[in-house]
Amino acid sequence: MSDIAPPVAALIEEFSKLPGVGVKTAQRLTFFILRSPTDQARRLAEAIMRVKESIIYCSRCFNITESDPCPTCSNPSRDQELICVVEEPLDVLALEKTGVYKGLYHVLHGALSPVEGIGPKDLRIDELLKRVKGNKIREVILATNPNFEGEYTADFIRRELKPLGVRVTGLARGLPIGGDLEYADEGTLSRALEGRRDM
Ligand SMILES: [Zn+2]
Repeated sequence: MSDIAPPVAALIEEFSKLPGVGVKTAQRLTFFILRSPTDQARRLAEAIMRVKESIIYCSRCFNITESDPCPTCSNPSRDQELICVVEEPLDVLALEKTGVYKGLYHVLHGALSPVEGIGPKDLRIDELLKRVKGNKIREVILATNPNFEGEYTADFIRRELKPLGVRVTGLARGLPIGGDLEYADEGTLSRALEGRRDM
């Protein structure tokens, strides 16, 4: 790539750092930007910066938001006694798309992984326990990913919640095993939510 103009090489390099983007795709994206109108390229650059400058974490549910508490936490028509625990903000999007869930969320920002050295303190687990202790919570739904780390995390949280006397449920089977919640289709997710079982 030594003959490529440095700005082009730099953009290819930045794109290739994105998840799931190899060098070939990074080159395609770069040449797409080169051919696009200046306005479109500017909107992309500005959208990237806005995400970094205006997005914060909700101090209650830890979802990404522009205002704290987030619109979901401050919406009085949501069921304030029901918390759905997920790994990532993308999982919230996936569950919201089903239109079935009307409670609140709690975003852990990852899953426990003994292999990768990710422990309870690296996730928002203490914050969840505080939330359950300090509020009138009827049920906590554990909606971590249906893979090893996800199940391990759900099991850990279930044991921590047990002494608090709150009902703990898990999504029904039927989600693709080993997959991520965010990739499940809306029908499968709705059924998994509605068929949730006590843990
Ligand atoms: Zn929130």
